[in-house]
Amino acid sequence: MKKHNFSAGPAILPQVAIENGAKAVLDFDGTGWSVLEVSHRSKEFDAVMDETVSLFKELLNLPEGYKVILLGGGASTQFYMVPFNLLEKKAGYINTGVWAKKAMKEAKLFGEVECLASSEDKNFSYIPKNIEIPADLDYVHITTNNTIFGTEYHADIDSPVPLVADMSSDILSRPMDITKYGIVYGGGQKNLAPAGVTFVIVREDILGKVSRQLPSMIDYRTHIANNSMFNTPPVFPIYVMRETLRWLKNLGGVEKIYEINKKKAALLYDEIDRNKIFKGTAAVEDRSLMNVCFVPNDGYENLYDEFMNFSKERGMVGIKGHRLVGGFRASIYNAMPVEGVQALIECMQEFEKLHAK
Ligand SMILES: *Cc1c(COP(=O)(O)O)cnc(C)c1O
Repeated sequence: MKKHNFSAGPAILPQVAIENGAKAVLDFDGTGWSVLEVSHRSKEFDAVMDETVSLFKELLNLPEGYKVILLGGGASTQFYMVPFNLLEKKAGYINTGVWAKKAMKEAKLFGEVECLASSEDKNFSYIPKNIEIPADLDYVHITTNNTIFGTEYHADIDSPVPLVADMSSDILSRPMDITKYGIVYGGGQKNLAPAGVTFVIVREDILGKVSRQLPSMIDYRTHIANNSMFNTPPVFPIYVMRETLRWLKNLGGVEKIYEINKKKAALLYDEIDRNKIFKGTAAVEDRSLMNVCFVPNDGYENLYDEFMNFSKERGMVGIKGHRLVGGFRASIYNAMPVEGVQALIECMQEFEKLHAK
């Protein structure tokens, strides 16, 4: 049976990226050897790295002055790399969920951290609005899409100080104005690649302002100067990232995928709002286009396990919500086709017919 992968991450990838990745495991771009055993210093891999970075820049519409580096370590490594490189005295953080909180915890090791706003009072079900950002901060940090709670910023915010954003789960899902950001980072395993590669987009002029000594591996300038080849980069995840970016470009780029993502999310949220058995958990105006969180409606709480089994039997994978929210979460990243969302909706409708009071 066809499986529909709604996992939060590692997550669904375009079928063509998986197929081309599989081919490259056996024969890397016609070289006769495997991408798994190729030297990262080879000219063949150099070409992959160059194309991946240039496609990423092109799809993001990256202006002059910004650099892209591809590293290991996941978004979680960026939680401390950012303050290591930028925090001299004080940074501001907006606490919109588990990931934001983890980022804040690491920053506190390096300087003063001011929590400018938080949505913890309502279990992170909304995005705080109209936040005053003091001009004396070294930077301010946001999490644009809250993978666990299903909330998302729908517009780029203005900041008088460098804006740092964890975009692990919504990078390239919608148009964004990169010029508003100093650093954008994320794990690749939500919207770009298999687990193992981490992207960092840096506006170069914000670096080099802290007085502490930086170990080479932690210093963004090392990786910029070495085109992400200071040490061995995650070769295979970068290969598949290239294939994903080629797919996105062929599809029509970010504007096009944004249309599709809006359509998918609207279909699913409309069904959640209509269906008697389910209700959404995030504030309507802050609902994520990528992670759709819902729970059994009042009076239907006892049907949780039943829907998990029911949907599993019909090919739905990975819709169990995070333990902190409970309920269900359907992650509908770029690679999720509209048909996958429709299959889940049909499943919800069938379930309603069987159980609605
Ligand atoms: C998944 C995720 C992370 C953690 O990423 P790792 O690569 O596992 O460290 C951080 N932030 C957000 C928003 C995420 O979705």
